Amino acid sequence: MTVRQPPDLTYKHPKCYANSRGGCSTKISGEHYVSHALIKLYTFDDPSVVIKPTANYRIPVDIKPKNFVANVLCTRHNNDLSDADSTALDFATFLRDIAIRYKNGGGEWGPAETIEVSGDDFQRWVLKLIITHAAADVFTEGDGKRVTTIIPDESIDLLLDRAEWPRTWGLGVTGNLSNSHLKFDPFTRAEVVINEWWSAQPLIKHDPRTLLGGIVDLAGVSFTMCIFNQSEALLHDDKINPLLGVLQRPDSLTWILDGVPKTIQFRWNDRWQHRPITFTMHR
Ligand SMILES: [Zn+2]
Repeated sequence: MTVRQPPDLTYKHPKCYANSRGGCSTKISGEHYVSHALIKLYTFDDPSVVIKPTANYRIPVDIKPKNFVANVLCTRHNNDLSDADSTALDFATFLRDIAIRYKNGGGEWGPAETIEVSGDDFQRWVLKLIITHAAADVFTEGDGKRVTTIIPDESIDLLLDRAEWPRTWGLGVTGNLSNSHLKFDPFTRAEVVINEWWSAQPLIKHDPRTLLGGIVDLAGVSFTMCIFNQSEALLHDDKINPLLGVLQRPDSLTWILDGVPKTIQFRWNDRWQHRPITFTMHR
């Protein structure tokens, strides 16, 4: 009879960014910068298709999906985040399918549709994407130099669902359409869900350089992520402020055309307020 060894909960893999409280496996996962399922979806499962990061994301381009890995998470911690990955895939697939049928307005909008996804898992996916990029030192400055940032331990506790999100931290979407930093339209320019379907930009505090969050675009929608109290930033009326008018943790996102809604309903387990957001489209 064999007895399964309990996992060594104290082991910290030196290359795993989530090692702050141990619990690592001894293998590194080869984590993709973007969840591998998403890469497959958007490249139609063709391994020869090349991923081209968008202009504001300046890692070397023309990396094949197979090689598009960061090696910054152990397999156990990567597995702990698989629900987050599948939630992002559900979100992107829903919007992408609608956009492809709609053909920039030349096709069919179709009937009312709703998808329900876990807001908690989606929030963790956005955080994971930003931390993975930061841990792999792929964010660059104006001169192309790679930026090394400290990843705060609190962000790992939130990522692995070990801590409750403070009310003023976390995911957000635009609540002020004059904020030109944040996208909200997956449908009138199909490129945003087909070619330019994701990007990530960090928010970094200097001296010492510390990761504070970032902005992730997925399938034509921008999501802000703050691992700090964003209350003041939401009100700061300055053109360079990407957080102006952000609404935190929406209850739902709905796009309406000719009275017909397409809705992403988020499920939340936290005790904070969640409000629905509706974008009314015009032909
Ligand atoms: Zn680990």
